[in-house]
Amino acid sequence: MNKGKIRYAGIAMLLVFFSACSPALKEGVQTQVGRQSLKKYWTTNDCNTSGGVISLETTNSLLTSRFEVRNFILTAKLMTTSGAEGALLFHVVSGNSEEATGYSVIINNSDYRKGSPQKTGSLSLIRNNFVRTASDDIWFDLSVAVRGNHITVTVDKKIVIDYIQPGNPDRIEGLERRLLSRGLVFLQKSNDAGSIQVDDISIELLADNIEFENPDPVTSDTTGKLLSMLNQQGFPVIDYHGHLKGGLTVEQVSQHGMTNGYNYGISPNCGLNFPVTNDSSLIAYFIDIENEPVFKAMQCEGREWITLFTPDAIARYDYIFTDAMTWTDHKGRRLRLWIPEETFVDNEQQFMDMLVEKIEAVISQEPVDIYVNPTYLPANIAASYDRLWTAERMDRVIKVLKENDVALEINARFKIPGIDFIKKAKAAGLKFTFGTNNADNTDLNRLEYCLEVVRETGITAEDIFIPRPSGEKKVMKKGLPAKITG
Ligand SMILES: [Zn+2]
Repeated sequence: MNKGKIRYAGIAMLLVFFSACSPALKEGVQTQVGRQSLKKYWTTNDCNTSGGVISLETTNSLLTSRFEVRNFILTAKLMTTSGAEGALLFHVVSGNSEEATGYSVIINNSDYRKGSPQKTGSLSLIRNNFVRTASDDIWFDLSVAVRGNHITVTVDKKIVIDYIQPGNPDRIEGLERRLLSRGLVFLQKSNDAGSIQVDDISIELLADNIEFENPDPVTSDTTGKLLSMLNQQGFPVIDYHGHLKGGLTVEQVSQHGMTNGYNYGISPNCGLNFPVTNDSSLIAYFIDIENEPVFKAMQCEGREWITLFTPDAIARYDYIFTDAMTWTDHKGRRLRLWIPEETFVDNEQQFMDMLVEKIEAVISQEPVDIYVNPTYLPANIAASYDRLWTAERMDRVIKVLKENDVALEINARFKIPGIDFIKKAKAAGLKFTFGTNNADNTDLNRLEYCLEVVRETGITAEDIFIPRPSGEKKVMKKGLPAKITG
């Protein structure tokens, strides 16, 4: 990813005259700096304007402010058309033609697996956002605020980024100057596809002397530093398996993610005797979280789920996942492996063979994107994990995942699969997700096991699963199995 570079070519001359002609903005007053005032406040390169709306259409399209900002609130209305990507930069300091200075807020509403993975609102390479927060062809509101060392980005009134720059921020090579200071604002297009239209830009300058806040101490511990590094490498850090359990709200989950530096996928549990049991409750849940800055996921429960929902309703979700913790054994008993009273291990080798068969049946027939809680063993044999998960059994599971293009969850709560399994899966070219599967409002954790796996196995950004774009959902292509799979 090479989003760190900022284009300065062509504006050096303008900067020479900067101080002589910079227009005054009044502190504490929201000033319209677009529309009729556009030429007063901005230098435009390769932009079309019509009826007050500015259109950026090429890689050379650039608005450069004639004013500088320190603390400010900028708001604008934007609309992209298909494929358009760009960024709003702030605190850009002149005279550094090679290095990125200041911060960059991404504008990109392309579908998943299309265009750059960072989507609108992303505070690029510092606090990345991978969730689509706006759509092409629909106007959306973008707001960027800096108050002291606190950066907030909102899209359509939803907070997407909430970042407090620490006193001595760690920055990798090439990002040393991605820091707060005082500088210019740029609005630029970064590709030739589509257009970015901008209207109604206003700026309110805030006092220079806003006090700095102390960042949450977790952001500077070992885990916090690792998460920060992964953000700087453009690594998609996403907890794809979050639940609104124990009264958790989507705002609380998002805030936990924003503080720590990752995105969330939120899913209802869908299946027999679960809260979501039919299309109408599945669609109602989707509508509830549709405008939230989280991935929308469906957890398919038990094996009966395939009889309860239609492909059209399922395909609204960004991705769907299941585990192999519920199935019916050779004696006709329905097992739920996390409940000791409902788990029957008459013979551990036979049980393991049956478990592997069930995983193969589920993964090869159910149109899921991710296999979660993978390799989970019931409590009475969990201590023998390394002995029971033989190389042959691991290979069979990895093979069926690979053949069916199903990603493997690295589960942060259960710390599964083991490192050996993940190394084999990586060698086979599987995609991975991080997932917690929180059971309550107290166990969101911070993906510690997933980070340990990254360190030990060398998983890279390219190994991470990204949801399929609309029109390419597995359930629409493969359909649902005619019969219960296990
Ligand atoms: Zn779950």
